[in-house]
Amino acid sequence: MKRGTKIALALAVLAALGFAGFKAFERPIALALFERVVQRNVGADRSAALPDGLHVYLCGSGSPMADPERAGPCLGVIAGDTRLIVDVGAGSMRVLGRMGFPLGRTDRLLLTHLHSDHIDGLGELMVQSWVANARGAPLPVSGPPGTAEVAEGFNRAYRIDAGYRTAHHGTGVANPAGYGLVPTEIVIPEGARSIVVLRKGDLVVTAIRVSHDPVTDAYAYRIDYKGRSVAISGDTAYDPAFARAAKGVDVLFHEALDPVLVGKMEAAARANGAPVIAKVLADIPGYHTSPFDAAKIAARAEARMLVFYHTVPPLPTRMIERAFMDGTGAVFGGDIRLGRDGDLVSLPAGSDAIETANSL
Ligand SMILES: [Zn+2]
Ligand SMILES: [Zn+2]
Repeated sequence: MKRGTKIALALAVLAALGFAGFKAFERPIALALFERVVQRNVGADRSAALPDGLHVYLCGSGSPMADPERAGPCLGVIAGDTRLIVDVGAGSMRVLGRMGFPLGRTDRLLLTHLHSDHIDGLGELMVQSWVANARGAPLPVSGPPGTAEVAEGFNRAYRIDAGYRTAHHGTGVANPAGYGLVPTEIVIPEGARSIVVLRKGDLVVTAIRVSHDPVTDAYAYRIDYKGRSVAISGDTAYDPAFARAAKGVDVLFHEALDPVLVGKMEAAARANGAPVIAKVLADIPGYHTSPFDAAKIAARAEARMLVFYHTVPPLPTRMIERAFMDGTGAVFGGDIRLGRDGDLVSLPAGSDAIETANSL
């Protein structure tokens, strides 16, 4: 046998032995890796390591359109010792849980408006925030007029499940006194543009009326804490008044719909004999903001960073992402980011740093 053949044979035998050895130990190796991951995550409050400041968890950067990369609109906010969630789109609670947000200690849910894509994860939030920490009082939810009706509906829809959970885990986990949502409706007075909805220590949350006609009550939120600030647009058409209300924020989270890409979807729907889908696609650009116009809002607001979220349509490749962002840098000189599920934007108190990382 030639020397080369012998070496090849020996390597093949070694590889076979190695594979057999790996197969024999695959389960213990998998269990050891699993144990390491769960020790780091299950029941651990990863937010405890954050410095005092304003921290925004991007738990849903997408829209109602099916998108494997992006949950429906949602932001978790930690400001000092207060934990807020702004909107709760489909799938977003799973992202927030994976990011290590302390769901069981959520203080309040804020709704920007009552479109389905902003509330369709609400049932999941109710259950998770209730049983994760044996909540003793219902979760407060604040939103525009109509929020009480939505809360009542969800309370009713999940009551049967709640009964099962109390029967199964006991009142020490699923305490009936802590079940459900308790609503507060935010009414911005006629002629006013905004109203302070929460003032707690150094934290101030302001609701701002935005333009999302025919949704008459659609709000953005501005959150200020110890000199740091963010504004969250919710759904809105181009609205310079929102830029004035968001003046000087560190980070502006703005929705964006690309009318060129959505226009191509509309033409495709028409060509494929789906006029109803084409009509919906033709209607939606009118009450959203293009990426270019959102950048103009960031410039007018003199924000330091713009993060796109609630992006429409889904952006399946980096090339399409670049097409979506095209031209935005020409109107806004600050940092521009295309938000992704799992992004954590941190604004430490007593500093002007803006730290960004993806925590998934
Ligand atoms: Zn929406
Ligand atoms: Zn909407």
